[in-house]
Amino acid sequence: MKDSFGREITYLRLSVTERCNLRCRYCMPEDGVCKKLHDEMLTEDEMIMAVEAAAELGIKKLRITGGEPLVKKNILSICRRAAAVEGIREVCLTTNGTLLPTMAKELREAGVSRLNISLDTLDEDKYTHITRCGNFGNAMKGIEAAFEAGFERIKINTVLIGGFNDDEIIALAELTKKYPADVRFIELMPMTDNEEFGQAAYVPGTAVLEALPQLRELPNDDGVAKLYHLPGAKGNIGLISPVSSHFCGSCNRIRLTADGKLKPCLHSDQEYSIKGLDFEGMKKEIERSIMDKPSCHAPLSAAERSGAHRSMNRIGG
Ligand code: SAM
Ligand code: SF4
Repeated sequence: MKDSFGREITYLRLSVTERCNLRCRYCMPEDGVCKKLHDEMLTEDEMIMAVEAAAELGIKKLRITGGEPLVKKNILSICRRAAAVEGIREVCLTTNGTLLPTMAKELREAGVSRLNISLDTLDEDKYTHITRCGNFGNAMKGIEAAFEAGFERIKINTVLIGGFNDDEIIALAELTKKYPADVRFIELMPMTDNEEFGQAAYVPGTAVLEALPQLRELPNDDGVAKLYHLPGAKGNIGLISPVSSHFCGSCNRIRLTADGKLKPCLHSDQEYSIKGLDFEGMKKEIERSIMDKPSCHAPLSAAERSGAHRSMNRIGG
């Protein structure tokens, strides 16, 4: 269905858990998530009912996210049931990749058609630093496992952070020569609780164009990334610039958090609870959240924090 500004809303991002096996500094607090009561979170049946209600309202694409979706015990069942919902044409999943070596094949069999894998650096020590606890080797094995399982058009998501990985732009972009994957540089978003990143960390996506003058611009697909190609590469380069040039005018998505809150906008604290509702109740709230979707979020910068008032692991990115 269309929102009140005429945007067709066809994409739901479903966060299945707030938990994660990593602790990325820009995304979640070091001490993890506060323990929530089990009955405050959506059950598997409620998640599927919400996907069914959303599909009746015109949602066609579902992305499963988190937290880390692969730490969720019943993730395969959620994927399998979501992929079978009438009207859902594709189920994609965003992951840090570290659990893919044992799960990639099963995810594919469960109906996940596309994977986005997050990777911010190619340096082992920097990987452990930014994730606070992760192992770079496990992430790389995860990328390899995704290819072995037969996933195509894999996207590698890199959060561009000045003073951390802006010196690796060329090396990260060259992954598109090694793998048939797209590498997408995402501008760091200033969430309420990642204030350790000062002004210098907010590097605009155009830094990628400066580091790689040989990039050839491509026509955009229907996503939020501006697309480019490195000569001789198998995949493309994408620039996602929510800070320097937001894409609200063409936003086609809503979000559902693991604790059952519909979020019409990533950077707003507007939330609509569907926890405990029946099918018709959920459908009504989804409709309301689409109609109440704001035209645009407020400006973002080191000094202008997101209005979401949740850390990213509690939204789903
Ligand atoms: N755990 C999974 C992962 O890391 O891919 C899925 C959840 S994570 C919240 C989804 C995406 O949000 C990741 O690509 C992550 O890098 C990105 N992200 C988290 N915090 C961010 C921030 N402050 N600015 C930009 N991207 C962020
Ligand atoms: Fe976990 Fe993903 Fe957030 Fe990193 S970005 S802490 S992997 S949810």
